[in-house]
Amino acid sequence: MSNKTFTMIKPDAVANGHTGKIIDDILQAGFKIEAMKYLQLSRAQAESFYGIHRERPFFKDLVDFMISGPIVAAILEKDNAVESFRTLIGATNPEQAAEGTIRKKYAKSIDANAIHGSDSDANAAIEGSFFFSQFERF
Ligand code: GDP
Repeated sequence: MSNKTFTMIKPDAVANGHTGKIIDDILQAGFKIEAMKYLQLSRAQAESFYGIHRERPFFKDLVDFMISGPIVAAILEKDNAVESFRTLIGATNPEQAAEGTIRKKYAKSIDANAIHGSDSDANAAIEGSFFFSQFERF
């Protein structure tokens, strides 16, 4: 169990003006922000980040969406960070997300679902180091 996870506030949430409220939800849930940056992904970067989904039918739509506007990427710290953050953001499909979760509050659809959260300690380390070189070793 690691105390770090990686997140991105996705283009829909940034474009809809939800960045501040989502960061506040994250802080109110007890996460500490270790690093944060605002950027727009290139196509090559988005394809690389989501490479595990390359064979999925929605891969091109996912990449198109993720490069459609700026995002906020961050490394977060809390005990049991990965699981705790997945609970905070809710199910991938906002229609199935629990009340009070970030996706329930701010996401419109399964593709434009407001926020990313790493699904394992290993992926948190890989994803964090994709954006923040000083965190190559968690
Ligand atoms: P997550 O770990 O909850 O983000 O979900 P996954 O790892 O399964 O999928 C990664 C991302 O791909 C999701 O957050 C969605 O943005 C997107 N995605 C997943 N399923 C679909 C789908 O059926 N259609 C589209 N367009 N996007 C999807």
